[in-house]
Amino acid sequence: MAKEPRTILIEGAIIVTVDPRRRVIEGGSILVEEGRIAEVTAGPPSGSARRAELKIQAKGMAVMPGLIDTHMHLAQSLLRGCADDLSLVDWLKKRVWPLQASFTEEDGRVSAELSMLEMLKTGTTSFVGVDVVSRYGFDGIARSVAGAGMRGAMAKSIMDSPGYGRKGSIMPSGLVEEKGATIREAKSMIRKWNGIKGGLVKAWVAPRSLGGCSQELYREVAELAREQGTRVTMHLGEVREDVKYAKDNFGLTPFEFIQKVGLAGPRSLFAHMVWLSEPDIRKVAKSKSNVAHCPSSNSKLASGIAKVPELLEAGANVGLGCDGAPSNNSYDMIREMKLAAVIQKARLLDPLAMPAPTVLEMATLNGARAMGMEREVGSIEAGKKADLVLVDLKKPHLVPFRDVVSNMVYAAMGSDVDTVLVDGRLLVSGGKALTLEEEKIVGEAQKHQDALISRSGVRV
Ligand SMILES: [Zn+2]
Repeated sequence: MAKEPRTILIEGAIIVTVDPRRRVIEGGSILVEEGRIAEVTAGPPSGSARRAELKIQAKGMAVMPGLIDTHMHLAQSLLRGCADDLSLVDWLKKRVWPLQASFTEEDGRVSAELSMLEMLKTGTTSFVGVDVVSRYGFDGIARSVAGAGMRGAMAKSIMDSPGYGRKGSIMPSGLVEEKGATIREAKSMIRKWNGIKGGLVKAWVAPRSLGGCSQELYREVAELAREQGTRVTMHLGEVREDVKYAKDNFGLTPFEFIQKVGLAGPRSLFAHMVWLSEPDIRKVAKSKSNVAHCPSSNSKLASGIAKVPELLEAGANVGLGCDGAPSNNSYDMIREMKLAAVIQKARLLDPLAMPAPTVLEMATLNGARAMGMEREVGSIEAGKKADLVLVDLKKPHLVPFRDVVSNMVYAAMGSDVDTVLVDGRLLVSGGKALTLEEEKIVGEAQKHQDALISRSGVRV
């Protein structure tokens, strides 16, 4: 890249701020200085803003806060199209795990780069990338994340048992990690990567779902996260089998079990949470635990529909996630917003169950809170980091328009994204990624998937 501008002025846009007053500013301007939003003005920019090193004419575009994917798998984009029309347990056992158990570290890197390329080009600026196991090479993936310039938390998978829920779903040996090694590696990853690149790259811990860790290990993970000052994420209550497993083994609901081992709380983020009882919903809210709602994945795997309006009503923080390419099959948060909105209306037979502005908050502010970054990102306000997305509104499916939030949630697609800034750096311009080599990554993805399938012996 050529020398990067330190001041950027975005002019004439419709600014969807998601600020405390939820202002939408038409024809406004945003000045970015040294990575942060210096000013947001309705109307023409101030005198000093006019001297910005780079000016972006954004008439006919909407500017939103960067989208935040609170649950995605960096190592799954390489499996796109490899595991369709299966239920979760078969999906894991017959396709996803045997394929991932044959990953090389190069596959890990290519998959992470492909995931980030898709995320960036569709307006995602921050993500929680879960289940990075040793096999994919944490270091290689972390280097790719640092190189892409995105705001990414990589969660090291923690496990000591090859199970998942009901008996018989056993993880292949290539993925299983031994207790001592998994903890040692997590500690070294946190030391090496947590907070590098000015805090853009984070290392978290991701204990595996119920059945994947012993009770002692869950307790150790809670302790490790506290001691290292990092955060925890895990899949929880995704399918009905999880409820049965927790009841049979612990006499508790999955969330009660997690509370018992000390993993619930404001520094924890639980993905899916489809199978929650009414009392569980209140417990989740009271514990201030965060939830990552993944409507496409839950629908495609027929896991169920999470009770998101009820969680929000109870005061829980719920963000949005795309999960992975075998379950979604895309990493497009704009499309995910639409499903998050319409699926609750259909479930509750209530058109007011999930309004567009609520969904946009889930994809931005709530996501920031789920990552512990609500003071830094998640809205367009002076002083916050400049993570911004410009969406081109001059498209047949986006005109005529009256309400820009409605258009972003119900009508837009990730491919409408024109420009993306993370930390004040231009990472996508005119729809082209600047820090990731698109042509190379797309070519590598196909080659690596072909080789992976033949190496694994899995019939796809
Ligand atoms: Zn997942």
